[in-house]
Order: sequence, then structure tokens, then C-alpha cells
Amino acid sequence: MKVLKFGGTSVGSTEAVKNLRLIVEREKENDKPLFVVCSAFSGITNSLLEATEEALYNRDYQSILDGIEQRHYDMIKETLPVSVQNPLLMLVKGNFNILEDLLSSVAHLGELSDRTKAKIVSLGEQLSCPIIAAYLNTSMPAEFKDARDLINTNSNYLKAEVNFDATNRNIQQWAQNLENKVYVVTGFIATDKDKVTTTLGRGGSDYTAAILGAALNVQEVQIWTDVNGFMTADPRLVKNAYSLEYLSYQEAMELSYFGAKVIYPPSLVPVISKEIPIWIKNTFEPEHQGTMIHVEREAHDKALITGISSINNVALVNVVGTMIRLKGFSARLFGTLSRHDINIILITQASSEHSISFVVASEDVAKARLAIEEEFHSEITTEKLQHPEIDTNISIVAIVGERMKKTKGISGKLFSTLGKNSINIIAIAQGSSELNISTVISKDDLTKALNVIHDAFLLSPVKTYHVFCAGTGNIGQEFLGQIFQEADNLIEKHKIEIKVLGIANTRKMLLANGSPVNIAGWKDQLEKKGLQADLKTFIQEVKKYELPNTVFIDNTSSKFVVEEYENLFRNNISVVTCNKISNSESYAQYLNLKHLAAKNGVSFLYETNVGAGLPIIKTLNDLVISGDEVVKIEAILSGTISYIFNNYTGDRTFEEVVREAQELGYTEPDPRDDLNGLDFSRKMLILARENGLPLELSDVNISNFLPEACLKADSVEDFYKELKNSEPHFASYKEQAAKENKKLRLIGILENNEIKVEVMLVDNTHPFFNLSGSDNIISFTTARYQNTPLVVKGPGAGASVTAAGVFADLVRVTTL
Ligand code: ADP
Ligand code: ASP
Ligand code: MG
Repeated sequence: MKVLKFGGTSVGSTEAVKNLRLIVEREKENDKPLFVVCSAFSGITNSLLEATEEALYNRDYQSILDGIEQRHYDMIKETLPVSVQNPLLMLVKGNFNILEDLLSSVAHLGELSDRTKAKIVSLGEQLSCPIIAAYLNTSMPAEFKDARDLINTNSNYLKAEVNFDATNRNIQQWAQNLENKVYVVTGFIATDKDKVTTTLGRGGSDYTAAILGAALNVQEVQIWTDVNGFMTADPRLVKNAYSLEYLSYQEAMELSYFGAKVIYPPSLVPVISKEIPIWIKNTFEPEHQGTMIHVEREAHDKALITGISSINNVALVNVVGTMIRLKGFSARLFGTLSRHDINIILITQASSEHSISFVVASEDVAKARLAIEEEFHSEITTEKLQHPEIDTNISIVAIVGERMKKTKGISGKLFSTLGKNSINIIAIAQGSSELNISTVISKDDLTKALNVIHDAFLLSPVKTYHVFCAGTGNIGQEFLGQIFQEADNLIEKHKIEIKVLGIANTRKMLLANGSPVNIAGWKDQLEKKGLQADLKTFIQEVKKYELPNTVFIDNTSSKFVVEEYENLFRNNISVVTCNKISNSESYAQYLNLKHLAAKNGVSFLYETNVGAGLPIIKTLNDLVISGDEVVKIEAILSGTISYIFNNYTGDRTFEEVVREAQELGYTEPDPRDDLNGLDFSRKMLILARENGLPLELSDVNISNFLPEACLKADSVEDFYKELKNSEPHFASYKEQAAKENKKLRLIGILENNEIKVEVMLVDNTHPFFNLSGSDNIISFTTARYQNTPLVVKGPGAGASVTAAGVFADLVRVTTL
């Protein structure tokens, strides 16, 4: 046998009840009764409470009642054939007469007892369930059953405690004479021993289903709601929340106790001892497998925590004073609170034992203050204890998971995640089960906290990078193209999603407006919808998002963009850059940027500063980190000059070859930057710094290959003109190389803390002789690689390999 429970939204509309019927038809076993527990139609419980409140203060409650009544008439008319409508219309009418009488008494008396409130609010289920039963009965035998005949409670009318002995007896007795039918049972409501109506607390229909399921020892309880199961966090607050396949009872209990409304926490109690599984499923997407809640089992997914939840309507009470150190103080404090029926959600005590903080529901806070002031009246008067301090602007965020027990460092990670995102932790508590760590934070930080924690613990199966791209030149365009091409593959194979939130070049900028930029048509959109470029506004926008894994990509060669890095790091934004300027201006700036990135727990990646996509910086870092000592670095790091030298053979002039290199995208935007050796020098300088040397650009010795006139050219065109004029100068190198059977190479050497960059003629015994196209080569002679140096070789220029290197850096971005 099974029990199916349908919540408010699953019975709130004709569309929903049609789905409900299909689900019930599918779940009904041939030879067994099926139990269907339903809530009031969506929103009705709240509306009944609202009407009651209006009546209490003698305001207009009638219009609310009329609305509620009409919803029931509409549902009857929309779902039932006319022939069976009458008894239900009468039932609704009869109940609304009762309701009007009750509310009119409340209004007249200006008084409202819990007992009357329970009676009023219980009508939602008393109305919805007979209608659902009649509707189901049109296609299969179905009968209405009022749970007040079955569930017996104490007289705590609004959140009554179940008397399980009596209840189980009633249910089992009833079950003896059941037919092979669907029984539609009212959720939420019960009676006390005097047959007065009580309720099981808000959300209590889940509990009804569990009570029924446990009493009948059913094979499973299914909770049908409006989301795809129990999710890693409240989907209304956490965008990346996703549904969990499996949860242990304890995890579900902790998460729901700390605010996951999807199941009412007491519901788990009756089923745990019988190990009856609870399924959470979606009425609106019945094919989705949903979540199974059952006994603990070895986690099959890798997330460190299972879920996050939060409670909002709570207050922190802080009790401070010297007397707290005295033995027996806590017993007196909590004894008092317990006598006043105040539930304590969380307690923490500072190790100095000078204060105790605890959290209670907002509705209990005034009562708690009074209780403490009364109990400790004389101590407060003699200043051994201060008046309780109360903070109502707080929320509790709890992370929950069975795996936390076995893993160290979770709380450290939680705190650094919050700290890094400037979220102040007011108090913390960890239950002794180690299944839950709770933090008290300001209510204003709640949504941000939930989202950053969610991402930090890699709850999302898909890691999302939020990317802002500066520069749409050759590399920028290529990079965006690669993101677009790889998008599906990245999600499917690597669980990585890249959302581009902004693109800017020197003229225009395109900013995501709610949804990310559609990269397929970025060029068109940038032209048509782009605003006038303004770097400051663009950076402002990057900072505004405050999303985890925000990465600024610098595909420019502008120093103005580099000036913003500091600002970005301070705002916890990672930077991936192919712009060499950041690391090759002053050593102080280089150090400062690295330091700031590390301090703020973000990445600063620039592999493409040297050798485009080749793993040069990474290799050097690995050597240094593993304790090797670099003796000498020799390198050809200008793909441009390699290309030019390799192609400057035969009849073509030097100027023609340079022009071709520029057309192929092998040069810097200004080819002079390559040919004057400056770009190469910057790369050598970066390598020296990565190797721990505090050198400056002025320390690089370049022996220049270009004639003065070329170096002095004012514009790119003038430069080409001068190259043409200097052809004899270049030709002499070419001829000498040809004569000696050597090759022209521009080689950088780092040795004895010095950097040289010079043109050399190398013969065929030299390892740099055989280098084709725009290849780079770098050779590391180290203590370990003494006789045979470690060599990295490959294409070291070109938009596509550089963009691929930027891309690789992007997916290496990690945040604390
Ligand atoms: P019902 O009316 O079906 O009982 P509820 O509104 O009581 O539905 O509970 C379902 C809602 O709980 C979802 O719509 C969702 O907004 C909210 N919710 C909060 N936390 C979670 C969570 N961790 N997983 C799923 N839903 C959650
Ligand atoms: N109708 C009740 C409520 O809204 C019970 C439930 O829906 O579970 O709290
Ligand atoms: Mg509910």
C-alpha cells in the first residue's frame, strides 16, 4: 500500500487536479486501497487566517470570505459533471455559513482563542478533500475520509501533539474494513480527546500522510508538491539549487527543521523507525524521479555537504554578565525559557563564558525577554547581569550533510567563504551529531550567503563562471568564438558553464541585462545595442554582480585596463589576462597584484603572457615549487620574429614578410612592439620574476637588430617605409646566414640573474636551429635538468592558440 500526499499547489487549480488524477490512476495498485492525503487549495489556509485577523480587529473580512467561497464553487464547476455537483455546492454553502458565524463572533467579541482559530483554519481541508474525492470518483471508486476520526492529539489546538497509541489504533481499526478504493483523507487536521478540532501545525498535511503511512506500515509515502524533489537549497533564493536524488532521514530532518519548507519536519518521525521511504515528487513534472528520503547510505555524489537551508523569522538574544560563569546559570536560564514554552533554535556560548547567545522564533522574543528579566530580576538590579540584548535583523543559515562527519575543514571553508564575501558571522553552532553547522548572520546578507555557500561547496553539478571580456581584437574575437563553440561540450563533459555578462572594446560595451549575453550574435549586438564604451562604468558593472566565480578577461594590451586589476581583486573578482603589461611594468606592481589576488582568495592567471597557449609559466612554477633550481633559461619567445626570420629567405623583402605576419595576426597590434624586442623583453622579464628575481624592464639588455630610423618611426606606416628603406641592412643578415648555412634567431637568455635578448646566427647543431613558422621554444637548464634541459616547444603566437590559452586559464580559476 502507498500513501500519496498532495500539497496546496497540487490541488490549487483545475490543471493541478487533472495531473493529480493521472498520478493517482498510475499509482493505484489493482488489489489494494490507495490513500490520498490532500491540503487545502493553495493559499486558502493563509486566506482563512487573514480573514480571521480582519475579523478580530473588526475590519472587512467578508470580501476575503467571498473570494474563498468562490474558489471552491469554481473548482466544483470546472471539474465535476453537473449531476454530482449539488451535494458539494451544499457542503461549501453549509461550511461558509458556519465560517461566517464563527468570524462574526470573533468580530463581536474582539477575541480569538487558539481553539476557535483551529476550527476556522481546519475548514480549508474539510472543503478541498470532498471535492477531490468526488472528482476522482468520476473515473475510479473514491471516497472522502475526515482525518479527525482517525488522528488523536492533545489540546494544543494550533500545533497539537499526536497521541500515537490512540491514533494508530483508530487507523488500524478503520483499515480492517477498507475496500479496494482511493481514500481521500484530510491533511493537517485532527481532534483532541473531547473531539474538538485541532491542527498539526502549518505544513502539517505532510505529517498526516506520514502518520497514516506508519500506522498502516505502507511500502512508501509520496509527497507531491510543486518542485522536482528536495533541493540543495530553497530554489526561490538560490538560482543554482538542484534536486537531490537521495537524502537520509536525518539530513531531511535537519534541512527542514532549518527552513526547507518542502517537508514538515515532524513528518519524518513516524516513518523513521519503520524505515518507510518518503518520496518528494513534482505534480507538474511527474516523470522527474524526485527525491527519496530513507536510511543513511554511502554518499554517491561528491559534494561535501548535502544541502543548505535558512530561517528568517528569528531573533538573537544575547545575555551578558559576570554571573554567567557561575555554576547552574545555564540550567536556570534555559529552565525558565522552557517553563514559558519558548523553543530554543540554537545556542552558542563564548569560551570566556561572559555571554550566552541563543536564537528563538520572532514570535517568542518578547516572551523570552520578560521571562529572563523576571527570573533574574535581582541579578539585573545588582548588575551581575545586563538586560538581554535582542537582535531581530538576523537569519540562520545551516549547512547539512552526513559526509560532514567524516570530513575535516568544512567549518573553515564555510567561514572563509562568508568572510571573503564580506558577510559577518554573528554566532555559530554545530550540533553534536556533526550533521549541521549553523551560522547566524544579518538578514540583509541572507540571499548572498546562501548563493556563495552553495557554490563554494560545489553543490552545483555545473560550475558557472560569470565572465566579463575586455577586448574584441583578434584574440578577443577568437576567445568568444571558442566559448560559443565549446559551450555544450563544457557542460556535458566538464560540468562547466560560462556566462558572458559583459563585452567591451575601446568603442562600445555590451552589458547583460538580466540574462547573459547571447554569444552567438555578440558582434551584432555590440554594434546595435552596445553603449558607448566607458571602462569605469564597465568595471562598476563587473563589481555590481557580486556573483561567485566572476572573472574579468583582459584580451587587450591596454595599460588603462591593467590599472583596474587592483580594484577588481579587492572586489573578489579573478583576472585572466593575456595583457603582458600587468606583469612587466614595475616590480612593485607585479608583486602587489599577486599579493592582492592571493589575499582576496581569487585567481590571477596569465599563462598567455609568455608563449601564447604553451605551458611555460606553469612549467616554471612547477619547477620552482618542487624545489628545483633554475640555472639558465634560453628562449625564443617572439613567435612573430620567429615567423619573420623563418620566412625571410629567398626573394621577399623584410618589409613584405613583416606585413604578412601582421595580416596573419602574429604581431602585436603595433608591429614595432615585436620588432624592437620590447615584447620579447617583457616576456623574459616575467619569467625572471616568476623565478623570484626582482628585476625591472630597464635591466633587460637588448642588442638591437633594427636600424635607428626604424626604431624612431612615428607611425606604423612610417615604420613600414623605414623597413623598406633598410632592406640592405636586413639583407646582410640574411646573406651571412645563407652563406654560413645558419639561421637567424632572436634569443633571450636568463642566466646569473641577468637577462639578454639578442640576434644570433645558429648552426644546425644548435637546438634552436630547427624551428618552423611562429614556433616558440624555451629550454630550462636546472639542477635537475642539468645535462638535458627541459624543453617546451610549439606555436607561440596567433590569436587562436592565445585565445585557447586564455580559455584554459579561465577554467583553472578557483576561488576560496
Ligand atoms: P506544498 O503546498 O506542496 O506542501 P510547500 O510550499 O509547503 O508545498 O513546499 C514546497 C516549496 O518549498 C517549494 O515550492 C519551494 O519553494 C520550497 N522550498 C524551500 N526549500 C526547499 C528545498 N530545499 N527543496 C525544495 N523546495 C524547497
Ligand atoms: N493547509 C495547511 C497549511 O497551509 C497544511 C498544509 O498545507 O500542509 O499549512
Ligand atoms: Mg507543505
